[in-house]
Amino acid sequence: MRVLVVEDEVALRESIVRALREAGNVVDEAGDGRQGLYLGNEFPVDVAIVDLGLPDMPGLELVRSWREAGRTFPILILTARGRWQEKVQGLEAGADDYLVKPVHLQEVQARLKALVRRASGWADPTMSAGDIVLDTTTQRVHVGGQSVELTAYEYRLLEFLMVHAGAVVSKSDLAEHLYDDQTDRDSNVLEVLLARLRRKLDPGGTMKPIETLRGRGYRLRLERETP
Ligand code: CA
Repeated sequence: MRVLVVEDEVALRESIVRALREAGNVVDEAGDGRQGLYLGNEFPVDVAIVDLGLPDMPGLELVRSWREAGRTFPILILTARGRWQEKVQGLEAGADDYLVKPVHLQEVQARLKALVRRASGWADPTMSAGDIVLDTTTQRVHVGGQSVELTAYEYRLLEFLMVHAGAVVSKSDLAEHLYDDQTDRDSNVLEVLLARLRRKLDPGGTMKPIETLRGRGYRLRLERETP
């Protein structure tokens, strides 16, 4: 997924960004409110982390501005210890959840995942569609009860398709949510990854879980099941 991190404390921002990238996310980062506002308005962000104490534009104003502009991605705010009023104001401004500093990286990641799942209608950490079951906490995938070994990229691709099950996802959507700017965005690479993913999910070629819609993109054909 694509995560925007808006935090002016350099060491904290860097550690959050590093952890999120290592976990396979695409990350945009900003050290002040104005830059954060710009990135959140211009890029297809799936979830944002916003420190409330920011230079140039306070975090509360940033959250409010995005919401007024119709940006609906979930927002996790970071507040300083002892400033409980801020958390209430942040939630009122349109944030979805909060964490009090000092934060633990694992907790940040868990909260972000939960926010994205909730925003996409998945309440449970396990997503299933047809015979495919994906556990977002362990990043394990099972098809018809059999464990399937996926590479990090294949997993991310499948997770994105599962979150958007039933909907058409364009090549550019996939590239923007799955690759950093540094990574090869060649659409041939995407084709190869998809072909491999299809073989692993459906070795017999009978289920055909991922459809290609010429000129439009891809769709996970299976019905998604909400527990
Ligand atoms: Ca700060």
